Amino acid sequence: MKYLSTRGHADRKQFCDILLEGLAPDGGLYLPEHYPQVDDAMLTRLRKAYHEQGYAELAFQILSLYIDDIPAADLKALCAKTYTAEVFGTGEIVPLRHLENSLWLEALSNGPTLAFKDMAMQLLGNLFEYELGRRGAELNILGATSGDTGSAAEYAMRGKKGIRVFMTSPHGRMSPFQQAQMFSLQDENIHNIAIEGVFDDCQDIVKAVSNDLEFKRKYKIGTVNSINWARLLAQVVYYFAGYIQATETNDQKVSFTVPSGNFGNVCAGHVARMMGLPIAKLVVATNENDVLDEFFRTGVYRVRGSADTHETSSPSMDISKASNFERFVFDLLGRDGAKTKALFGDALSQSGQFDLSQDPRFADAAAKYGFESGKSTHADRLATIKDNYQRHGVTIDTHTADGVKVALEHHSDASVPMIVLETALPIKFAATIEEALGHSPERPAKFEGIEALPKRVQVMPADVTLIKAYIERHCAPAVLG
Ligand SMILES: *Cc1c(COP(=O)(O)O)cnc(C)c1O
Repeated sequence: MKYLSTRGHADRKQFCDILLEGLAPDGGLYLPEHYPQVDDAMLTRLRKAYHEQGYAELAFQILSLYIDDIPAADLKALCAKTYTAEVFGTGEIVPLRHLENSLWLEALSNGPTLAFKDMAMQLLGNLFEYELGRRGAELNILGATSGDTGSAAEYAMRGKKGIRVFMTSPHGRMSPFQQAQMFSLQDENIHNIAIEGVFDDCQDIVKAVSNDLEFKRKYKIGTVNSINWARLLAQVVYYFAGYIQATETNDQKVSFTVPSGNFGNVCAGHVARMMGLPIAKLVVATNENDVLDEFFRTGVYRVRGSADTHETSSPSMDISKASNFERFVFDLLGRDGAKTKALFGDALSQSGQFDLSQDPRFADAAAKYGFESGKSTHADRLATIKDNYQRHGVTIDTHTADGVKVALEHHSDASVPMIVLETALPIKFAATIEEALGHSPERPAKFEGIEALPKRVQVMPADVTLIKAYIERHCAPAVLG
């Protein structure tokens, strides 16, 4: 399998090359040249693999369709090492929980940091260590986080050979639980840098360092952001696992509702559907930051400025633009790289928006690709959290609540199970749960008392020069010899 860029750049690359890269050279995102097709016999084999050998085997079989530059035995071992009951809390890894009628929750948040990002990031950590080891290379990951991404990355990369993580976050602005999760890590290869500023300042620092190409090359700076194809591919697997658990035969269909920000999670659902997994609808659920809902309703994609980007109680979906959305639009436009470049490269940088409402292919988003959408507000989240607690005895987190609220509006056919992806556990967003229920959410035993653990964090001003100097100091020995 080779990979191409959504903006038409001519080079075709192998999986392990794009694994360690960010954007394609023309600024596009990587996608496979084609989507491998899963026919009825293959789906039956995958069903059997999940039931008899477990999630790791299912992951191995799906990943094998896309990765041919890692020997099969090695890939199998990497999957087996990643998806264990010890790391993800249950043997099923992503069990379904019944809510009502044919509405289900798929639990994706029982990994080390209690958010779905662990599903992909844990595999990425093992893939990085493997590939860097093969090349005798090193990588220094520089990132910016407002919570979930940074902790998922740190827990995936801690103690890994050849990898250091420098993670910036806005000083004092993450929830106490999130701060404790990240800053309590004592691993030498993990560097927490709390920036005196807001999340945008952190992102600006990462951009400034990445734009200094000489520094970037010298210190082998890389990222783990959500546009990485390997992360997306790892997420495709749990759509199969959800389908397999909700159905008994391959002639049944299911729908998914996905709490969305950067369109990464639901883009993996799109890939699964393109492979032939019998998915009826893919429902995109946003919060007040409704860039994506607006597009699927109107055909207009309008990036928000920072003044129009709301701080909400589902903060991991507070985005101004959806960084993975370009992948779907590329498919929607019949994989026309020139047209995709005109929209994402030119139109967005000139006017911050584009309009596909007059393009006949816009109708395909729903008709051919199954996309629907909806949005949810703070009041909706509170009501949904309360309703699920009272009627089902289930406490859901704020992002998952956005999903459940929108799913109920789109669950029109009771004969088609609707699966809502649970993207975090409620303890991560305890303040809003208390607001909704009047009591704190349950805390998994292994997180008892983490706020009291010693913290390992550097507080620094929002100054690129100082951050670079910090990176230099902590990389110098390895670089020199
Ligand atoms: C990252 C995140 C999301 C959004 O996922 P995308 O892939 O960016 O659409 C939703 N919920 C939680 C809890 C997250 O951490």
